[in-house]
Amino acid sequence: MVDYLNLAKTYQTPLYVYDLAHITDKFCAIKDAFRARKSLICYALKANSNLSIIHHLATLGSGADCVSIGEVKRALKAGIPKYKIIFSGVGKSDSEIAQAIESDILFLNVESEAELKRIEHLAQSAKKPARISVRVNPNIDPKTHPYISTGLHENKFGVDIEQAKSMYIFAKNSPHLEAVGIHFHIGSQLTELEPLKQAAQKIAELAHSLLALKIDLKFFDVGGGIGIRYSDESLIDPYQYAQAILGALYGLDLTIICEPGRFLVGESGVLLTSVLYEKHNGKKRFVIVDAAMNDLMRPALYNATHKIECVYRASQDTKESLCDVVGPICESSDFLAKDISLPPLCAGDVLMIKNAGAYGMSMASNYNTRLKPAEVAHIGGDVRLIKHRESIEDLIKDEALLLQEHRSKGAQ
Ligand SMILES: *Cc1c(COP(=O)(O)O)cnc(C)c1O
Repeated sequence: MVDYLNLAKTYQTPLYVYDLAHITDKFCAIKDAFRARKSLICYALKANSNLSIIHHLATLGSGADCVSIGEVKRALKAGIPKYKIIFSGVGKSDSEIAQAIESDILFLNVESEAELKRIEHLAQSAKKPARISVRVNPNIDPKTHPYISTGLHENKFGVDIEQAKSMYIFAKNSPHLEAVGIHFHIGSQLTELEPLKQAAQKIAELAHSLLALKIDLKFFDVGGGIGIRYSDESLIDPYQYAQAILGALYGLDLTIICEPGRFLVGESGVLLTSVLYEKHNGKKRFVIVDAAMNDLMRPALYNATHKIECVYRASQDTKESLCDVVGPICESSDFLAKDISLPPLCAGDVLMIKNAGAYGMSMASNYNTRLKPAEVAHIGGDVRLIKHRESIEDLIKDEALLLQEHRSKGAQ
């Protein structure tokens, strides 16, 4: 058992704490589910891009799904081999594309005709053919929160099936492009299998017709999106998920790529926070804590729910009442939980916000000049600091430009 109170004392709060053994279990569950086929699990870095977390996954054999050249660099730095790295995203800049080609990663997921032409041009300049895969938008409702749905035509992601076909033909006719894969990703925090199954079938049909055109695909990239349980959501079983994909792939000899983010790291992490005050506005009870929306944005951004448990409480009184748990930021949307039941709390008590391993620290900001939390990871009783708490010096060091000019003028 991890001594969370001791961690909070040692490293201060707010503090992210990750269980690496849990990440291992999740990785093995998904890898194992696909054992009937060749598969590559490409961890979606954006869920949690701490180098130590990526490195841990690298040691398990994971690849990386990156959405910026910065993430590609993180993946390489953390020890993920270049031939296991893919680069996705609707708005890659020329410089990002050029660097990705130069880095010789597995492939780029292309999201528009215009992007394909940019890639061709940049590959020609680099005198290095670019390996690509087209992200197809299957126009399927993933039945998740609208902000994390990506597989409908009304979302900005991917291209429709007809457009995809003409892009593959364009790539086939270009000496600078090599189409190696086909890709879809319909959304995040998916709790139903059916939309994924339908998407896989639609894209598999397209893959068949491309192979008939002698477009020699090798990879079938099914994206990520498997949900986790924040409160009482139903869950997609990894084995059934894999079966649904494998079923759709009947007759296609392709390596499966799967890009889970949240599924691998979401449940592994908690955010520890200390109570600062309790207050009542009329009948409304607020628990004010030292973590805020800048540390964990999901409640403010998606109205997401995270369970909260007490790690340490001074009071013996166990009578619970409803409250909002809120942070110190000057925004009404700065809450971590609404209308949850907690016992009386006072300054110094420690709370644990659960399932905060994905889209927690990776979305953290410095709003209100708050310093980003520290992160620790534990495995088999061994606890390691994996990111220092940010300091005010770290935060402002790149902003002092004019101040320095003024100072040196003053000195003349
Ligand atoms: C965000 C994203 C993922 C990971 O999504 P999860 O819901 O965290 O599994 C995978 N692939 C692409 C292209 C993404 O944008």
